[in-house]
Amino acid sequence: MTAIIYQNTVRQNAFPYQLNVSVVVPIYNEVESIPHLIDAIANSLTNSGLSYEIILVDDGSKDGSSQLLREQAILRTDLKAVLLRRNYGQTAAMAAGFNYAKGQVIVTLDGDLQNDPADIPLLIAKLEEGYDLVSGWRKNRQDAALNRLLPSKIANWLIGKVTGVKLHDYGCSLKAYRSELVADMNLYGELHRFLPALAYIEGARITEIPVRHHARRFGQSKYGLGRTFRVLMDLLTIWFMKKFLTRPMHVFGWLGLISMFAGITIGSYLTFVKLVLGEEIGNRPLLVLAVVLLLAGVQLFSFGLLAELLMRTYHESQGRPIYRVREVVGAIGQNTAR
Ligand code: UDP
Ligand code: MG
Repeated sequence: MTAIIYQNTVRQNAFPYQLNVSVVVPIYNEVESIPHLIDAIANSLTNSGLSYEIILVDDGSKDGSSQLLREQAILRTDLKAVLLRRNYGQTAAMAAGFNYAKGQVIVTLDGDLQNDPADIPLLIAKLEEGYDLVSGWRKNRQDAALNRLLPSKIANWLIGKVTGVKLHDYGCSLKAYRSELVADMNLYGELHRFLPALAYIEGARITEIPVRHHARRFGQSKYGLGRTFRVLMDLLTIWFMKKFLTRPMHVFGWLGLISMFAGITIGSYLTFVKLVLGEEIGNRPLLVLAVVLLLAGVQLFSFGLLAELLMRTYHESQGRPIYRVREVVGAIGQNTAR
């Protein structure tokens, strides 16, 4: 037994062959779940005979999760704890985990035991069939119907429409990736759920398999309906990126020019009416329209220019981290304070 555990720990990374799997879990106030979570992940991977590391990222918990993670990471050779300075949100915590992951495959899941670690080997087996990303599909999702399932159904449909990647369950955190795929993804906002879409744009092969889902045992969900709106806003951004990222001026500039042209045409007509026909134009609705179109045109045009500049800055500023790390504990006894 000891031999197997030893063989399957992160210590192997010190040897010339590569670590198979990094399991990345964001943790925000999940202190009661943590011991069960670590055991379940370790069992699942030990049984499947893969070498693995568990990377638990504490996202500024206030319930003692970070202390527990520290202790566990010192005790266990298969666990690394990445402690963030404050709460940055699930996506940032996952990005931090990705940054420390060394496995060929990266698996993500939630820290509240709603995802079942026993499904991890199934995802990996599917990945080995030749996919770059395997997403879990919570066929029997154990969440409230009205405020969780319905918005997520609509969101999944919309995301599928916009991105062209049709998955039943974008929101499922349980996913497996080939590590190259996440290595150079720039995440922010609620973007972790759009990883399949972003990966697809990069040419990744994507599929999904049904996974188990359990009701929360401890603690409570960190999200309400507000997240749906944030997700929709992110979706708009993705759509924007897909369409206009390269040349925003080509969209807004044209709209602006058309609007200005329409404004000037109507304006000229009114000038003609006033000067040549000698009629009064001050009370005509058309006059208002002409002014609005002209102003809108100028605005849109300048907006296009601004967007063009913004895109340049965006491309140049990719290096900026969306989180700050306080401390990294574990994995061969290292303890790196930052
Ligand atoms: N989480 C996090 N930072 C946050 C909010 C959540 O790291 O600011 C983690 C949380 O601990 C859990 C996962 O993200 O592991 C999903 O959160 P939750 O279970 O509350 O979401 P739900 O299952 O209700 O969608
Ligand atoms: Mg949950």
